[in-house]
Amino acid sequence: MALIVQKYGGSSVADAESIKRVAKRIVDARRAGHDVVVAVSAMGDTTDELLDLAGQVAPIPAPRELDMLLSSGERISMALLAMAIHSMGFEARSFTGSQAGMITDATHGAARIVDVTPVRLREALDEGAIVIVAGFQGFNRDTRDITTLGRGGSDTTAVALAAALNADVCEIYSDVDGIFTADPRVVPNARKLDVVSAEEMLELAANGAKVLYIRAVEYARRHGVLINARSTFSSSAGTFVLGEGMSLPEGVEGEGMEEPIVAGVATDLSQAKITVIGVPDVPGKAAEIFKIVAKSGANVDMIVQNVSAANTGRTDISFTLPKSDAAQALKALAADQQDVGFASLVHDDQIGKLSVVGAGMRTHSGVSATLFEALSISGINIEMISTSEIRISVVVRGDDLAAAARLVHTAYGLDGDVEAVVHAGTGR
Ligand code: ASP
Ligand code: MG
Repeated sequence: MALIVQKYGGSSVADAESIKRVAKRIVDARRAGHDVVVAVSAMGDTTDELLDLAGQVAPIPAPRELDMLLSSGERISMALLAMAIHSMGFEARSFTGSQAGMITDATHGAARIVDVTPVRLREALDEGAIVIVAGFQGFNRDTRDITTLGRGGSDTTAVALAAALNADVCEIYSDVDGIFTADPRVVPNARKLDVVSAEEMLELAANGAKVLYIRAVEYARRHGVLINARSTFSSSAGTFVLGEGMSLPEGVEGEGMEEPIVAGVATDLSQAKITVIGVPDVPGKAAEIFKIVAKSGANVDMIVQNVSAANTGRTDISFTLPKSDAAQALKALAADQQDVGFASLVHDDQIGKLSVVGAGMRTHSGVSATLFEALSISGINIEMISTSEIRISVVVRGDDLAAAARLVHTAYGLDGDVEAVVHAGTGR
């Protein structure tokens, strides 16, 4: 008998029928003799609808009240799920984030979990109940207010519960079968991975893969939680995310212990590129520019600086950032143009970022050459390149991104024999 934490995303509990399907799945685990704790997201697009509603009554809703509002989405789904389980003849008890002991800092809208005190959950488990917890929310001890963890926060709720209760596995259910070698909507013959390392998963998630949230994977890695990403709509075993020193549960077979060099290809169309043209090539200019950008609240990703043209003493600096941060950053830079002394700004929001991720890069040479070769054969131009220890990323034209991903996927031998099945396909 094991203790299993399960998380169901919004698309898994979108309506009454779906809630009953999920209830059955939970009851199946209980029937198999396991203790079950469930973290649940708000039904379907509830969170977006609530945000929209808030925007209609106030241009900038008060953060405290926004958290009160948004946390209600998960209270609806948790109570309905518990009712559905009751009607199947099983004991279930739902808890809000604060009842479950999800203690966070006081940052509304992006709170961090600082402690989990699941006293009431343990009591309920001891009494034989299935425990249902509202995802995405917590409670701050100083302000005594409800907080939310940021979009997609229910993944983190589930992992934090698994860590605090010392669960055997944290199953994260969405509408896709697991982690794929690429987004199956972009690369139709992407393969599901049986196992991926936590460090690879972090790179994939940070570079566009949407099935698991980065914060949840980080939390799992730090606390030694085994994540199993799988689908509510199929019986596929999903993908296990293995941190260092972790092993697969008994009876589960991995792909074999030989690590592939490349685990997957991630694509991201959410970034824009800003180029600062004619920057005086003297010490301190990069510092000035990125201080301005940081103050505008933008989250810079890749940076490229060219060598300065010898006769001008000036250089160009390009960087990428989320599209939604670009307007603010451009405004801030333009305001300080005189002080910094650059010539002009160029904004390009038609870029795509392609990343190849694999722990095998540490020990194999020629991995980047394969990437560049695949792109060059088909005449796709590379505009920027950046690397980490286990990742190579390139920026290309956004229109070229899908084709580039398919070519690169083939070049690394990642193609499967069959088209991946995408059930509903949002990954949530
Ligand atoms: N309902 C929240 C959201 O849509 C939290 C979650 O789904 O994980 O972001
Ligand atoms: Mg949601």
